[in-house]
Amino acid sequence: MVTQTPDTLSIQAIQSAIRDIPDYPKPGILFKDITTVLRDPKLFKDVIDFFRILNEDKAIDYVVGIESRGFILGAPLAYALNAGFVPIRKKGKLPAQVERHDYELEYGTDTVEIHTDAIPAGARVLLVDDLLATGGTAEAAITLLQKTGANVVGVQLLIELAFLDGRKKLAGVPAINALITYS
Ligand code: AMP
Repeated sequence: MVTQTPDTLSIQAIQSAIRDIPDYPKPGILFKDITTVLRDPKLFKDVIDFFRILNEDKAIDYVVGIESRGFILGAPLAYALNAGFVPIRKKGKLPAQVERHDYELEYGTDTVEIHTDAIPAGARVLLVDDLLATGGTAEAAITLLQKTGANVVGVQLLIELAFLDGRKKLAGVPAINALITYS
């Protein structure tokens, strides 16, 4: 059971600390810079505490972080949930045998990889990333996790750009949580 809900005032403080960088990495993109949250000890702790509260009823075996901001948020969450941490990385970064999934970007394709033996079939997995935009990255990560036989029971995000409708791509995942939503 979830015994506490995230405190509205703290969420507002986290939201206020997120820095908007216009036209980064290319014209027309409003980049949500979370380094200004991470560098603040209280806000960083609040984010991880909220993530824990929102997911501690899910009996998570593994928190899976998407490179690279998903590592920063996913690793402390795994510790807080007494779960293991498993990275999903870009092509060619993992040393042992991998499962691979290629997916379409606006221009070209990208590849995500996970160690083949990282997650036992049926294990309960929580996927973590900093931000959901079009949903392409999270969708690719979920497809990859399904190849390992993992049971993806939730996706935890710090930020959701709801106007991009990324959630639609994640149909089938029971719990998709974002601490901060821009509609
Ligand atoms: P998408 O695949 O479109 O959902 O994009 C999500 C991924 O791209 C996440 O790993 C984010 O870190 C990054 N991303 C996309 N849009 C932004 C944005 N406006 N600000 C910061 N990061 C973003």
